[in-house]
Amino acid sequence: MPVRIGDYEAVVGKETVDELWLLADRIRHRSLQNINSTAVGGGVAEILTRMVPLLRDLGMTTWWDVIKGDDAFYNATKALHNALHGKDEEITEAMLEAFRERTAANLAEMEIKGDVILVHDPQPAGMVAKKRELGKHWLWRCHIDVSSPQPRAWEFLRPYAEQYDAAIFSMASFARQMAVTQYVVPPSIDPLSDKNCDLPRAEVEAVLEKYHIDPERPVLTQVSRFDRLKDPLGVIAAYQMIRRRADCQLVLAGGDAADDPEGAEVLTEVREQAADDSDIHVLLLPPFSDREINALVRGSTVVFQKSLKEGFGLTVTEALWKGKPVIGGAVGGIKLQVLNGVTGFLVHSPEGAAHRALELLSDAELRCRLGENGHLHVKQNFLLTRHLKDYLLLMMALEHPSEDIVQMF
Ligand code: UDP
Repeated sequence: MPVRIGDYEAVVGKETVDELWLLADRIRHRSLQNINSTAVGGGVAEILTRMVPLLRDLGMTTWWDVIKGDDAFYNATKALHNALHGKDEEITEAMLEAFRERTAANLAEMEIKGDVILVHDPQPAGMVAKKRELGKHWLWRCHIDVSSPQPRAWEFLRPYAEQYDAAIFSMASFARQMAVTQYVVPPSIDPLSDKNCDLPRAEVEAVLEKYHIDPERPVLTQVSRFDRLKDPLGVIAAYQMIRRRADCQLVLAGGDAADDPEGAEVLTEVREQAADDSDIHVLLLPPFSDREINALVRGSTVVFQKSLKEGFGLTVTEALWKGKPVIGGAVGGIKLQVLNGVTGFLVHSPEGAAHRALELLSDAELRCRLGENGHLHVKQNFLLTRHLKDYLLLMMALEHPSEDIVQMF
């Protein structure tokens, strides 16, 4: 079914939707082109899948283009991604060359047609080379935590990032000393998408049943790509500690992202660690399993996002929206969302995660209170309508570079 901006009135109110129309009226003469590295899998694709149709519904000419990569390129960009997150990762000259080589090929192939070009993350960052020839407004939207990167990785990326008109980070602490204007725009979820909409209880139970999960017993869940930075092995370690004290089942649900070459290896490690425990459900879900993921989270008692590094963690937002208390690693954007003791708990170790999970499993009233707070926190801060407003305002700001105050009327 086509997405209509008016449908959001029921969730965020008429005023918020009217404001979006007003902003779109002011900036509709400018077109927007998004560029990223995958159409499926991961948070950026998740956001663009919902945001692009809504911008179009607002009358904005909007495109979404995906760069093309090969194995050498994705291995290089995954290593860069990890190193930018601060992980100890070897960045070889061959990797940097693979990045430059694919960037040149994409520059030759992709048509740059927007007035504003919104380039997401490091993988396509080199597309900015076209700026010299074409002009236009170029924005680099960084979704990852680059607050303490490996110097070699950052020094490689910085010359690209500094060619943009502005950089956009998910939280203030990610901002870097750079020779460009920086904006803070947190990501968002779509409350009306299949991933987040309300579901009938029968559908939730049918999905649990499909995966042999017992709806009568507590369910702990983490939804994530199989990525070491999401710490799935740490989650299993926590679950094993919890099981010594309380009954529960663990669901680790994830899928592939086209630009993530490490997934298969990590999945094998996870399956080995889960061994023959029939209460650990490792689910490799195909792309577009949104309603099933929705149902798995709704059928959970507690949700984990025990990341070791995290740009934002849409999975946290998705769980909070569904009224689930979240136990999250105390890193990156998870700290914006999991307010310790208010919407969930922040933890630093499997032991901490196990301790908090036991507390939540034994206290239904606490789970309910944190869940209600979490839903409200997302409603106030992390819905797609707020995200759209931020981007429209930013496009307006680009049109008025030297003005402190932009007159709207
Ligand atoms: N996701 C999904 N299927 C999976 C695993 C994740 O659809 O098997 C979705 C998840 O629901 C969320 C996004 O992918 O919307 C992951 O975004 P997040 O910011 O949590 O992490 P990223 O993968 O971008 O690091």
